[in-house]
Amino acid sequence: AALDEATRSLTERRKDLLGASYRLFYRRPVHLVRGKGAYLWDANGDKYLDVYNNVASIGHCHPAVIEAVYEQMGRLNTHTRYLHETILDYSEAILATMPEEINRAMYMCTGSEANDLAMRIACEWSGGTGIIVTQESYHGTSFLTSGASPALGSGQNLSPNTRLVPAPDHYRLAGQDAGAWFAAEMQKQIDDMAAHGIKFAGFMADSIFSSDGVLPGEAGFLKEAIDVVHKNGGIFIADEVQPGFVRTGESFWGFGRHGLIPDVVTTGKPMGNGIPVSGLFARKEVMEAFSNHVPYFNTFGGNPVSMAAASAVLNVIKEENLQTHTQKVGAELLGELKKLQDKHESVGDVRGAGLFIGFELVKDRNSKEPDKELALDLIEALRDEHVLTSVAGPYGNVLKLRPPLAFQSGDIDWLTGALDRSLTKLGR
Ligand code: PMP
Repeated sequence: AALDEATRSLTERRKDLLGASYRLFYRRPVHLVRGKGAYLWDANGDKYLDVYNNVASIGHCHPAVIEAVYEQMGRLNTHTRYLHETILDYSEAILATMPEEINRAMYMCTGSEANDLAMRIACEWSGGTGIIVTQESYHGTSFLTSGASPALGSGQNLSPNTRLVPAPDHYRLAGQDAGAWFAAEMQKQIDDMAAHGIKFAGFMADSIFSSDGVLPGEAGFLKEAIDVVHKNGGIFIADEVQPGFVRTGESFWGFGRHGLIPDVVTTGKPMGNGIPVSGLFARKEVMEAFSNHVPYFNTFGGNPVSMAAASAVLNVIKEENLQTHTQKVGAELLGELKKLQDKHESVGDVRGAGLFIGFELVKDRNSKEPDKELALDLIEALRDEHVLTSVAGPYGNVLKLRPPLAFQSGDIDWLTGALDRSLTKLGR
């Protein structure tokens, strides 16, 4: 369908002013003006179901965050060179959600900055420079993190010290022991670094492998590979930018599903429900390898307003029992999506943890050949049904279903009905 005049004009102005790095979702771009809970409204007043946004995690425009930010912004906003309670109260509260070995906190504004610092800490701790990440992972925009973000594609050079392990795709590993397989892949890359004179510093991973196609796998399978990391003198950086803050349901953090104790944990996106705030949490001795001799000051990081927003988010997660809610509604949604898999041949696999679900489309169930074209058409058809989501994975054929945690049982029908009708309409 042709774009209406307002949409065409905004799209043109964007192209001229922001340039080509700014990619839009949808052939018919969506112009959003308002949000509440798991819902969004466009400029025409049409309502959408948000099945993608994990930043507004506790719900779009949550009143507790608005109030906390408004109150603190009206009182004081400075930086971490003055004393303030909020950053300390928050640090105590967030560290209490982690294994007790993790007992130091630092703050910044984006996930990229957190991962960038984590990489610097890994190098200081190990005396090495080699970082391992998964094959389609994304870790950030900075020079260091973009050099360890293969998801950016062939236009972005990886650092010569970056090595890639394939992400554990249980659907295609069918039957193999994923834990042993992944540990062996890890050792292979560490050995390759050594063969090239690069000392191993650490492994950085998002434990639900979101950009790699949403690959939760069975709980606990990551442990063997992390043992390999430690045996070789490296650290494990848990990039919790996506799986953290009860997203995966059964635990507060993604690494919790695997019974792991990371050396460094990085956070971002959902931490402030939209206020730019991120964090890095680490074992004391690991952080000290850096902080005992390198100063760190992040102008906006950890300021009283960001900390007020982050505190409000943490309170809401507890007060609204969002972890239990996520586990319950996530399981219910997964069950309903599996019914669609029974009905539509093109749905090869449905997998998830909490409210983080991968819905994989294939041309043929036996060959498991990815169907990227169908995934792209389906995203557009869902948009016409006012359901917003997107794709992930090396083949671009996995729908990433990751709604705000404000998503309710009552929203499931809208999503599954839209998927069912759209797949039928597309003849698949
Ligand atoms: N790590 C992961 C796993 C992410 O998904 C992202 C953002 N997509 C980042 C890091 C970078 O976070 P930011 O965009 O806040 O810099």
